[in-house]
Amino acid sequence: MPQRPDNAQTLLRCAVPIPVRGYLDYLPAKGTDTLPAVGSRILVPLGSRQLVGIVTEILGSTNVDPAKLKRTKNYLDKNPLIDPAVLELLSWTADYYQHPPGETLILGLSPRERRGESPASVHDRGFNLTLRGEGLSDTSLSRAPRQQALIAALRNGPKTRSELQSLGFKPDNFRTLLASALIEPVEILANKAWECRAPLSANNEQNTAITAITASLGQFTCHLLEGVTGSGKTEVYLQAIAAAIARQEQTLVLIPEIGLTPQLVKRFNDRFDCPIVTLHSGLGGAERDRNWQAARSQQAGIIIGTRSAVFAPMLTPGLIIVDEEHDVSLNQQDGLRYSARDVAVKRAQLSGCPVVLGSATPSLESMANATSERYQWHRLTQRAAGAHPPSKRIIDIRGLALRAGLSAQLQTKMKEVLARGEQVLLFLNRRGFAPTLLCHDCGWTAECQNCDARQTLHKKPPRVQCHHCGQQNPLPKLCPQCHGQRLVASGLGTEQTEQALKKDFPDVPVYRVDSDSMSGRHAMATFTQTVENAGACIMLGTQLLAKGHHFPKVTCVGVLDADSLLMSPDFRGEERLAQLLTQVGGRAGRAQRSGEVIIQTRHPEHPIMMAVLEKNWRSLSAQLLLSREAQGLPPNGALAALRCDSATPDAGAAFLVALIKAYRSQTPDPLIRLVGPLSAPMARRAGLYRSHIVIAGPKRSGVHASVKKLVVLAAEKRAPSGLRWFVDIDPSEPL
Ligand code: ADP
Ligand code: ZN
Ligand code: ZN
Repeated sequence: MPQRPDNAQTLLRCAVPIPVRGYLDYLPAKGTDTLPAVGSRILVPLGSRQLVGIVTEILGSTNVDPAKLKRTKNYLDKNPLIDPAVLELLSWTADYYQHPPGETLILGLSPRERRGESPASVHDRGFNLTLRGEGLSDTSLSRAPRQQALIAALRNGPKTRSELQSLGFKPDNFRTLLASALIEPVEILANKAWECRAPLSANNEQNTAITAITASLGQFTCHLLEGVTGSGKTEVYLQAIAAAIARQEQTLVLIPEIGLTPQLVKRFNDRFDCPIVTLHSGLGGAERDRNWQAARSQQAGIIIGTRSAVFAPMLTPGLIIVDEEHDVSLNQQDGLRYSARDVAVKRAQLSGCPVVLGSATPSLESMANATSERYQWHRLTQRAAGAHPPSKRIIDIRGLALRAGLSAQLQTKMKEVLARGEQVLLFLNRRGFAPTLLCHDCGWTAECQNCDARQTLHKKPPRVQCHHCGQQNPLPKLCPQCHGQRLVASGLGTEQTEQALKKDFPDVPVYRVDSDSMSGRHAMATFTQTVENAGACIMLGTQLLAKGHHFPKVTCVGVLDADSLLMSPDFRGEERLAQLLTQVGGRAGRAQRSGEVIIQTRHPEHPIMMAVLEKNWRSLSAQLLLSREAQGLPPNGALAALRCDSATPDAGAAFLVALIKAYRSQTPDPLIRLVGPLSAPMARRAGLYRSHIVIAGPKRSGVHASVKKLVVLAAEKRAPSGLRWFVDIDPSEPL
C-alpha cells in the first residue's frame, strides 16, 4: 500500500507552463511551516526539470495518487505577484478560450518573473545613516569635511544617489562612509505627485461622454465611444483619466500597435505630469520588467500597451480604455487566441471599474451591445476642431486606362491639391513591387514552397518573397519551367506605384509607408513628424497609414484598389472593408480645410460601396448587422473553431473526422452545428496543412460546452506526431 505522505492534508494547486489542460497539485516544500500565498510563485519538479508554477489554490485533498505526489522545491515570493482579480481574469481566460492554464497564467508575469527571478526594482538607490552614523557627533569627522557634510545631509532621512550627486558628493565619499559602516545603501521610492495640466474646453458631445464615464468610476460599466475620426475621442479619454487620477487610481490604455501611434503617447505625456509607462513587444526585456513592476507598485499612473498588457498588474485599477476597439491587431492569433477587447471588458468587471471602447467604426459586436443597451453609447458626430467631414466620390475604373493604379481623374485632383500646397494620401494595401511574377511564355508563376500562395516581387532589394511565411528567393533570370526570358510583373504593389509617382510628380516628395519602409522602432514617429512640417507631398501606404494618425494638411485621399476585401473569404470582409474605407476617409481634411475621398473600384454598384458613400457608421453597421442576423453569424449566435495543423496533407482531416464521430456518438446538443472538416482558406501555410471544424450555435454557453467536450475527446485521442490542434473561440481569422 502506498504510504500516506506526511502533511497530506495540505496541497498546493498550481499552474505550470506546460501544454496540459489542467492544474497540478504538489506537496508543500520541506522544512517550512508557512504556506505560499495564492498568486505567488513556487518552484516545482516536473520530470527532470524545475519549473516556475503559480499557486492558484491551497487544497485539503486531491485525487492524485499520494505515491505520485511530488514536493514543491521552493517558494519564490513572500507576497502574491498576481493579485486576486488578475488571477481570476487569467483563470477565466484559460477557461473561456480553452487554453492550457499554465500557459495562460504566465501572462500575468513579466519576462524575468517567468524565469523565477524577483520582480524588477523601480526604486532609486540611495543611502541612509546607520545607527553608528546617527550617533556620530557633528565634529568628529572635522578632518574630512566632505564626509562630515554627507552625514549632515542624511540627518533628515535617506536620499537617493542622484540627489546626493547633485549636491556635489562623489562616489568616493559614499565608498569611504560605507566602508566605515556610517551609512548603508537603501532603496527609495521616488514619490512623484500625479498632476494633470489644463484640458481643452470640451464640446457638448464630449462633455456628455466625460460626465458619464467619470460618474461611473468605482463601478463596472461599459461605455462605447463612437466618434468620427477627429471628433475628439482622445480628449474624452484624457479628461476621464484625469478624473481617475484625482482618485489616485490607475488607467490602462490598450491600443492596437504602439509603433503606429507615437503621437498618442506624446499627447498623454503633454497632458499629465505623472509617470506613464508603455508595455509592448518593441521594448527590451529589462524595460518591460521595470514598467511591469511600475504598474504593479502604482509608480505608474497610466499604462499604455498593446494587447498582452491587458494582463498587466495594477495596484489601483480605476479605468480601462480600449482605443480603436474594432482593430484586428487587438486579437492574438497564435498560442492563446484571445481578443484583448473582450478580456478588457471582463477585467473591468472583475476590478469593478469602467471600461471605454472607442472607435470611429466600432465592431459589429460592440454596436450590437450598444443597441441592446448593455453598453452606454456615446456619440461624437462632429469634428472637434471645426473641420468639415470629407466628401466622398467613387470612380468606376472598369475599362479605364490606369497609370500605376491611378485613374486620370484621381491624378487631376492630386495636381490641384498639390498646387495649393496641400497633401495627398494614397492607399494601396499591397506592399512590394507586384503581387505576382509570371512567365509570359508558359504561364509559370513564382510560388512559395511552403504556402499555397504566390511570392511577391520586390525590387528593393530584388527578390521574390512570400508575405505569409517570409520565405524568399533571389529573382530568377530565366523561367525555371521553360527557360524563357520573358518574366513579367503582374499586378500592383506600393514599390511600383511609388516609382511611377516619383516620375509623374517630380516636384513633390513621395513617401512610401509600409512595413518594409517603416521597420525601425522610430520610423513611424520620424515620418509623421516629417509630413507635419512638410508642404505639398504624396504619402502612399498600406493600412499602416489608415490607422489613427493626424495628417492635418491632407485634403485628398485616394483608395487605389477597394476591391480586394470584397473578394475576401472571411464573413467579416465587408465589415473590414467598410471600416477601412471609413477610416481612410477620416485622414482627410482634419484641420480647417475640407477634404475629398476618392475610391476607385470595379464594383461601384456593390451595396457596401454605395453605403460607404451615403451612410454614417451607425446606419452602415445596422445594415451589416441585418445581414449577419439573416445568416446566423456573430454577433447573432456564437462561433468557435477547432483548428488542426499537420505536416502531412490528410492527417488533420482524418483526426478531425474521428473527433466529430466521437462527439456525435455522445448525445450532442441539438442546437449546436458542427461543420467540417474544412480546409483553411489558405490550406497550406509555412509548410503546414491547415484544417478545422466550425462549432456554431445560437448561444455562447452552448457553443462553449460543446467545445469543452471536443477538447476532452481530442486530448484523449493522442494526436499523431506532426499534428497540433488548438481551439479558436470567437475566431477572428477567416474560416
Ligand atoms: P479622435 O481621437 O476622435 O481622432 P482627437 O482627440 O485626436 O480626435 O481630436 C482631433 C483634434 O481636435 C485634435 O487636434 C484635438 O486637439 C482637437 N480637439 C479635440 N477636442 C477639442 C475641443 N474640445 N476643443 C478644441 N479642439 C479639440
Ligand atoms: Zn516559362
Ligand atoms: Zn510562404
